[in-house]
Amino acid sequence: MNATKPRSARKIAEEAAGFGSSATAPDPRSCGANGCPQLGSIDLGGSGRFLCACHAMVPSDRWPAVTQGIRDYGWMLDIIRNVKAAGASDLQWRKVAMLGWSVEPEMVPHAQETKALYVARLLQDFEHRVGARATKPQPLLPQRTWPAMQGAAA
Ligand SMILES: [Zn+2]
Repeated sequence: MNATKPRSARKIAEEAAGFGSSATAPDPRSCGANGCPQLGSIDLGGSGRFLCACHAMVPSDRWPAVTQGIRDYGWMLDIIRNVKAAGASDLQWRKVAMLGWSVEPEMVPHAQETKALYVARLLQDFEHRVGARATKPQPLLPQRTWPAMQGAAA
């Protein structure tokens, strides 16, 4: 967009001083667990150290294992990103999900799962796979009225 815009004197001075260089300074938005590639957004107990959703859910002695899990299952975050970026039409995001999960058919969206509920389930499943959530989530279905649920059970 602004590829030809010259850098400001301030920008050049910051670069010379090493600001904004990922090689010398860690991203201050990063999760506080050592080596975690995710951004931190949860500060438990007001410590000033923000953790990602995975590390926030486990005691610190399990952080290294969870970090390894996050790295091992990074491909799953790509699928989640692709589903989120897919068009809002039911056909579009479901197609992206089906392609992403061709080797794990139980992970494709349930017929009644909305895009938002499906993305939420994928994030919970990711947390389960990296060791931050005890149970594997089932498809998240929209809330229904009691008579509709009784009808579905019959
Ligand atoms: Zn983390």
